[in-house]
Amino acid sequence: MSTAEHPVLSTQGQAFLASVENAKYDRQITSGVQKFADKKVAGDMQGFYTEDELQAIVELKGTDRDVESRMPVKITRHYFEQAKNSSAMQRLIKASPDETYDLTGSNDPGKQMDYSPVEGLIHKYELGLIYVASTCSAHCRFCYREELIARKDVARPDGAMAPKGLAQIEEICAYVREHNQIVEANGGRHPETGRERLREILMSGGDPLVLGNRKIANWFSALSEAGIESIRIGTKELAFYPDRFDKTFFDMLDRFHQLYPRTQLRFMVHFNHPDEFLKKDADGNFIRHPEGGLEWLDNTYRSVQGLASRNFLTIDNQAPIIRGINDDSDALRIMQRELRHKGIENHYFFCGRDIVGHRAFNVPIEEVWQILNKSQQGLSGVEAHAKLSITHYIGKTEVCAVTNEPLLGVPHGENGVVIFKHMRGVADAANRGKVAIVGRNPEAIWFNDYEDRVIFDEAGLFPKSPDESKPGFY
Ligand code: SF4
Repeated sequence: MSTAEHPVLSTQGQAFLASVENAKYDRQITSGVQKFADKKVAGDMQGFYTEDELQAIVELKGTDRDVESRMPVKITRHYFEQAKNSSAMQRLIKASPDETYDLTGSNDPGKQMDYSPVEGLIHKYELGLIYVASTCSAHCRFCYREELIARKDVARPDGAMAPKGLAQIEEICAYVREHNQIVEANGGRHPETGRERLREILMSGGDPLVLGNRKIANWFSALSEAGIESIRIGTKELAFYPDRFDKTFFDMLDRFHQLYPRTQLRFMVHFNHPDEFLKKDADGNFIRHPEGGLEWLDNTYRSVQGLASRNFLTIDNQAPIIRGINDDSDALRIMQRELRHKGIENHYFFCGRDIVGHRAFNVPIEEVWQILNKSQQGLSGVEAHAKLSITHYIGKTEVCAVTNEPLLGVPHGENGVVIFKHMRGVADAANRGKVAIVGRNPEAIWFNDYEDRVIFDEAGLFPKSPDESKPGFY
């Protein structure tokens, strides 16, 4: 392996890469709804879409409502096997004409391109996010990275339109080094952006685990040598293709930890529904394990155990709550309990993002809160760690509470209130803990649906009131 191939790596890093086995995987992927329409899929997959469903989708091809130009269809054999017996999983993976019925929404939710100093890097918060792949083993219909996966043009701050590009190791590491040098020379904060040292990178996409072991290892070692202390890996591979977590992958992780013991690995996994990892009996019920908990699919269980048994990494689940998939308190309660039992922390649930077509998927904010709150009734404290997050353009925000009783004498409080808490802002967390209180609107699926009923807003989530005499009050 030549130095030219890995110019940002030390000799140790290059030796590490040379030791990594690049295994091949056969995910048995089916791509494109046309294959189902043409009956060019395996015999047992042919009834996955009904003839009516196929006709409705095919009729939209080439029109503004083409569902696959919004999000290409892709499914693995493993996911198909589970989805056969799960309406939730079918809704997650099967295209539907409803998706493009209302195309309201943003091609760049969170205005990420405003925070992209280098192609493929979003440096919005204290952590950096890098796009390292533009696909996943299968595609969730509700995906909030549809613009990347469907290779759509997005607007750059200079007005140019172009698809989002992928991060390149050399460029990202050069940015990290330069940013951290400037921060250090300036007493701990960047003089222009106010950001602190870049300590953490989230490898995202798409799914980083569609890359080969050696490419992943190259990212790990290069980021670590550039000064990154924690690397997050955002992946849904435990649901789409759990066999990806094989011996060669775990060998690579172990070797990486041996050579770079100070760099933490944080797996941010993505399960939406317990059907994605639990066995069912002939009646469709989950199966109780004689030693406690429920029976998991063998390969998913093996992969989770492989991760959970390594004390140098953490595993957190985060998932949006989506209409027809997991807007179900009982399913979410089972999922949270089982994940925690097997060593996976419940980190965040999300309200759906305002992506193009979001009205087909998003559950109203207050309903999501009620569903999650109900799902956590009966869970122990450690099982019920997950917060409900909604990503405002100015930063990550928690939906803390929805009240049922009127707030007497307070305009807009007649039907109760919703309390949002600001968690993390652009560049820093100076406003962390500040709240906004709005009158309830059971139909609201995004912040703008509350703009006419703001009661108090010290967090700055809503357009300012003309009356500035009482800061925070409207
Ligand atoms: S796993 Fe994540 S990035 Fe991949 S298709 Fe699903 S939502 Fe999108």
